[in-house]
Amino acid sequence: MTHATGTLYIISAPSGAGKTSLVKALIEQTPNLHVSVSHTTRPMRPGEADGVNYHFTDRDNFLKLVEAGDFLEHAEVFGNLYGTSQTAVEQALARGHDIILEIDWQGAEQVRRKLPQAHSIFILPPSLEALRYRLDSRGQDDNDVIDRRMAEAVAEMSHYVEFDSLVINDTFEHALDDLKAIVRSYRLKTTAQSARHASLLQALLSD
Ligand code: 5GP
Repeated sequence: MTHATGTLYIISAPSGAGKTSLVKALIEQTPNLHVSVSHTTRPMRPGEADGVNYHFTDRDNFLKLVEAGDFLEHAEVFGNLYGTSQTAVEQALARGHDIILEIDWQGAEQVRRKLPQAHSIFILPPSLEALRYRLDSRGQDDNDVIDRRMAEAVAEMSHYVEFDSLVINDTFEHALDDLKAIVRSYRLKTTAQSARHASLLQALLSD
């Protein structure tokens, strides 16, 4: 979303495409770019913290938030509920922050409908073999589990065409460069630049 406020990016990918590490590196290396912290009903994983990775909540409370209209989007993914707080995103954008929503294709569809200016990016793995390898990174799961994860990944990837940009995660650095290029080109848009350089423009145009 680009006007006087920040830009809203949506980033989706099948699990195993490397989205989370790419987004982490992107925000570390880009000033004024932040990830929105979603609500979820899924259990916390080791190493995660409440309010950092997610706002962890139970199903009853989540459904109350849905009822109260608190979510910009929400969806059920692999049996758990996930949602993005509308107020948190609106406030961050109004403060001029650029915001990333790391959400699935269903959430992306809802955000696109509400905020058509949002720029959506889909990250793809370089091959099915690489995806399978990444989904089996622990090497401990049986073939049925990996086959199910592969089928879920293929179903998610079938939505790539709905997105504005496609990034192939062949090498991490290359994919990170592509993400940085997208953000950089958005920041060079006339609407963003003229707000940022208002006094320069005024000086250049006065004789
Ligand atoms: P995980 O539980 O592995 O962190 O995430 C599982 C899936 O849920 C990923 O595809 C992730 O992008 C998606 N997801 C995470 N947060 C949200 C959210 O707020 N809304 C939607 N629609 N999907 C989300």
